[in-house]
Amino acid sequence: MAGFMDSVNKGFATLNVKTSNFMESSKIRAAITNKETEIGDLMRYIGETVYLNRNVFSISMVEQQLADIKAKYDEIEDLKRQMSQLEATEKNIIGGAASGAEAKIFCQQCGAPNRQGGKFCEKCGSPLVY
Ligand SMILES: [Zn+2]
Repeated sequence: MAGFMDSVNKGFATLNVKTSNFMESSKIRAAITNKETEIGDLMRYIGETVYLNRNVFSISMVEQQLADIKAKYDEIEDLKRQMSQLEATEKNIIGGAASGAEAKIFCQQCGAPNRQGGKFCEKCGSPLVY
């Protein structure tokens, strides 16, 4: 029965990782959507400002908005990095749990899980880096 309970526990561990990662990545996705909406608003503001001041327009009128847009794009990049870290963690934990005690090595080219000890990726044939 120990073996059975082990696999039940592994199943729960996998489920927990999946659930918390799902919630975390939903949060990140929502934050990215918010930033994109804010960028859209700023873009529209800049467009209107250029139009309404077309005879006297100076770039200094929208400098703040341009800086804000740049900052928001940087934040989006950051959020996307967090997202791919999250995906990598999930792959490693679930890949490990699904295959029991045997750890997997992930291909650096295509990301496919491979058995430890192999020289080349079973999926794409790239050399595996240990
Ligand atoms: Zn590969």
